[in-house]
Amino acid sequence: MDPRTFTASQLARDVRSQAVSARDVTDAVLNYIETRDQDINAFIHVFGERARQRADEIDRKIADGKSVGPLAGVPIAVKDNMAVKGERTTCASRILENFVCPYDATVITKLREADAILVGKTNLDEFAMGSSCETSAFGPTKNPHDLERVPGGSSGGSAAAIAAGMVPLALGSDTGGSIRQPASYCGVVGLKPTYSRVSRYGLVAFASSLDQIGPMARNVEDVALLLNTIAGHDPHDSTSAPTEVPDYTESLDVGPRGIKLGIAKEYFGEGLNPEFRERIQAIIAALTKEGAEVVEVSLPHMEHAIATYYLIATSEASSNLARYDGVKYGYRAAEPRDLLDMYQRTRSEGFGAEVKRRILLGTYALSSGYYDAYYGKAQKVRTLIANDFRAAFEHVDAIITPTTPAPAFRIGEMINDPLEMYLQDVYTVSANLAAIPGISVPAGMTSENLPIGMQILGPQFGEQMVLRIARAVEVLR
Ligand code: GLN
Repeated sequence: MDPRTFTASQLARDVRSQAVSARDVTDAVLNYIETRDQDINAFIHVFGERARQRADEIDRKIADGKSVGPLAGVPIAVKDNMAVKGERTTCASRILENFVCPYDATVITKLREADAILVGKTNLDEFAMGSSCETSAFGPTKNPHDLERVPGGSSGGSAAAIAAGMVPLALGSDTGGSIRQPASYCGVVGLKPTYSRVSRYGLVAFASSLDQIGPMARNVEDVALLLNTIAGHDPHDSTSAPTEVPDYTESLDVGPRGIKLGIAKEYFGEGLNPEFRERIQAIIAALTKEGAEVVEVSLPHMEHAIATYYLIATSEASSNLARYDGVKYGYRAAEPRDLLDMYQRTRSEGFGAEVKRRILLGTYALSSGYYDAYYGKAQKVRTLIANDFRAAFEHVDAIITPTTPAPAFRIGEMINDPLEMYLQDVYTVSANLAAIPGISVPAGMTSENLPIGMQILGPQFGEQMVLRIARAVEVLR
């Protein structure tokens, strides 16, 4: 059994029909992780025993003729910023290095109910703040396509684990692109659902008005299957939407005929790698040949998206991260002189440089006298950006863009230039600001053999349309 060939939909069918056992699948995955992850470092923890026990339970249920869930026996990895009861949830930070979670995130409960097998927690940028996985306290993750390059971030561990063939499915979280950008860099599929589509209960908060959990996989069908499992209202998360959850796998193969695709010049301007431009345009042409129609749309406030995002995200982060004070969670500095010394040293020693930079930026933007000029103003621009999309979606079903301006960069190339790193998020942050769904789907390879990602954005709760177009791209590619 070769884990690199596994897809979730096929595995679930084979395990249910007893063509393979969940235990054999799990063993194959765990053995492969053991060797392959020495080079990649996609995992922070691997749950060997726990996963094997769970696999045996599922095999027993099937042997006893009991019904099993839609992901029965399918191995999955989860980004290490989601709570799993009895296990550590580190957020790739020293400050939570030994923090053991007392409860399960709602997505984890739903995965268990679906009979998926949780094999481990994946690496990320510390507290999900970053685009490269280099700010992890546990060392960088490598891109399986080129071990000298970053896998993207912050869900880089999840993307790399899938791309290397270690797991067929993973969960990521996306505040400004953290599912889509690593999916693009690693050549896998990653969906950021509409804000509120998936419960955030048990997701460690970064920027609460932007954060969203989403599915990642090798193909579009598996992403849809995983979204079926995790979407829906949750009484534990008052921001989760009561909107009904359709079967996201149902309309995947309808094809592109009759779809109106929006193209915005704001996404194809200066700074876009020419090979990316060419590939995306070739795919748009192929979709048109299959009966889709191309319509030009305009998103005039796009140029302010990065500035707006980095004010709102850092402001909310500075507030959310105030809870790591050495009292309630995780790390506490040794032998403090007094309370203030304990707070100061705990936070100085526990957080890495990028997290501190963001707390400082956010605290400044929220401080009295500056609040209106920075945070307040950013909220107003956010509304303008959301209105641009609303207006565009009156004329089109989806908007096609590159996911990133260029392929995966080299480890170390941008880590000392935060502004350059922030600019890599130029095409992804608007979807979070506008609370709309976006998917990254592989669109081909560069001449250096690095993946090119194409992004498809839809209106709020337009996941079915976005998945249907992504599937069409997958077929045409
Ligand atoms: N790269 C972006 C940032 O550093 C996005 C992070 C994310 O989506 N979690 O803020």
